[in-house]
Amino acid sequence: MSSLLEIKNIRKSFGANLVLDNVSIDFPAQSATVIIGASGSGKSTLMRCMNLLEELGDGQIILDGADISAYGIEIDTVRAQIGSVFQAFNLFPHLSVLDNITLAPRLVQKKKKDEAEKLALELLTRFGLADKANEFPNLLSGGQQQRVAIIRAVATNPKLLLLDEVTSALDPVLIAEVLTLISELKSEGMTMVIATHEMGFAKKIADNVIFLHEGRVHETGTPNQIFDAPQSPELKAFLGALHQAGRL
Ligand code: ADP
Ligand code: MG
Repeated sequence: MSSLLEIKNIRKSFGANLVLDNVSIDFPAQSATVIIGASGSGKSTLMRCMNLLEELGDGQIILDGADISAYGIEIDTVRAQIGSVFQAFNLFPHLSVLDNITLAPRLVQKKKKDEAEKLALELLTRFGLADKANEFPNLLSGGQQQRVAIIRAVATNPKLLLLDEVTSALDPVLIAEVLTLISELKSEGMTMVIATHEMGFAKKIADNVIFLHEGRVHETGTPNQIFDAPQSPELKAFLGALHQAGRL
């Protein structure tokens, strides 16, 4: 399978703290890659680098054949090709659900209001949220807000979807509905990178799993390889701790 995204030898430091240490990963088109690792291992920083929210110390990021880490690249043009959703609900509170979703299609893609709203309503209908179109975000449950945030991220038809701990602020019932939405997007062929603590979900959705430890890729493999036949002591310890905590 050809790569949609290639990360090559990236390094990132915050001051003296080397947070990503020579990380290289290929992300095949139409695949789901799940990044696992302890808190502080560098998952969010890695995803922020993909979205050009962090400046790289070293290395390259190639998206669909183009070096998006090159000096002088148009950051907005790159970001328009990447949808991202993070842990905190990041909907605009003063805009309705519909206006949240149509904002980027109208401003960035210059779609007409009617066209953008038609598309937004199609997405909301498909994912069971049509009746929320005119609500403000604070009237929705956390799970509904996060589903709207994901719908907003895909409304511009991005090449790549980054999901960083999108369920970690939610309780279990709400988590399930968000994970269902993500699974549906995967079955439609969306290429995604997911950082999650939901190991059951990771096993189910991942084509590839990347284990990050202290800013390095220690192991990569299929869910079976990573969860059932871990090789490195670091991954064994990580999985052992999850097991003990009843989270695996
Ligand atoms: P994870 O998402 O796996 O929990 P992060 O990428 O958030 O890990 O953090 C990795 C390391 O980078 C941590 O040591 C964290 O303190 C540090 N870090 C992250 N963002 C910043 C920042 N903006 N400034 C300084 N240090 C940061
Ligand atoms: Mg994080």
